[in-house]
Amino acid sequence: MRFGEWVLLKDVKGRAYLLRLREGGVFGHHRGNVPHEEILRAGFGGRVRTHLGEALSVHRPSLEEYVLHMRRAATPTYPKDAAAMVMLLDLFPGARVLEAGTGSGGLTLFLSRAVGREGRVVSYEKRPHHLRQAQENVRAFSDLDNVDFLLGGLEEAQLPEEAFDGVALDLMEPWTVLEKAVRALKTDRFLVAYLPNITQVLELLERAQAHPLALEKVLEVQHRTWDLRPPVAHPSFQQVGHTAFLVQMRKWKDS
Ligand code: SAM
Repeated sequence: MRFGEWVLLKDVKGRAYLLRLREGGVFGHHRGNVPHEEILRAGFGGRVRTHLGEALSVHRPSLEEYVLHMRRAATPTYPKDAAAMVMLLDLFPGARVLEAGTGSGGLTLFLSRAVGREGRVVSYEKRPHHLRQAQENVRAFSDLDNVDFLLGGLEEAQLPEEAFDGVALDLMEPWTVLEKAVRALKTDRFLVAYLPNITQVLELLERAQAHPLALEKVLEVQHRTWDLRPPVAHPSFQQVGHTAFLVQMRKWKDS
């Protein structure tokens, strides 16, 4: 562990805090402070105490933890859904994937990890400050350097035909970018859209009829966590409810 690295601290109630270690820095918890030097000495997997005695465990943030706690410009794709999108897109090391909009870069990080150093993520975002935040978030967490961040609406992009192994869309009106996205997608590969409302899903399916796209499936990803403190053992009373629908479509041969 060294200064500049991301650290996730967890308190006894399981609350998590993401921070970047810096020389002379101090982490402030509502039950006391800890100098960053002490966190560094404890190392990943270790434990520190605030000056008021609160115990905190020290961790290297997982991708899920990082995306949930990183700074956001737009709401990131929920990690459980981003992981499912990687599966629905059938991504593999070396794949090329087209994304819009970049937002805060949450989904970008999942795509980038799935395609690896030999792959490429080409990501379009129309709002400059979202793109800046996404670049900062992605570069601060990953050294894969396999993402092209492009400013602009995907509907205006100049893209080569049949160049991408997958298209991931997380934007309000995905039907506005379908023409460009479908043209750039390889035949028999997948386009996956992430949509919070079923009315959006219906509109997308309606608009998709003008394109060589076949619906594969529409699904929700539900995680039901449990409280396990024997003899107490039951589903948690507080759960993540609805996040979004995932729509998987496949490109067929036009002629
Ligand atoms: N998936 C992102 C993440 O995990 O951080 C969040 C995406 S956010 C919900 C939607 C983003 O799409 C916004 O930043 C918005 O500016 C952008 N957007 C909307 N329409 C767009 C378009 N036609 N082309 C590119 N970006 C677009």
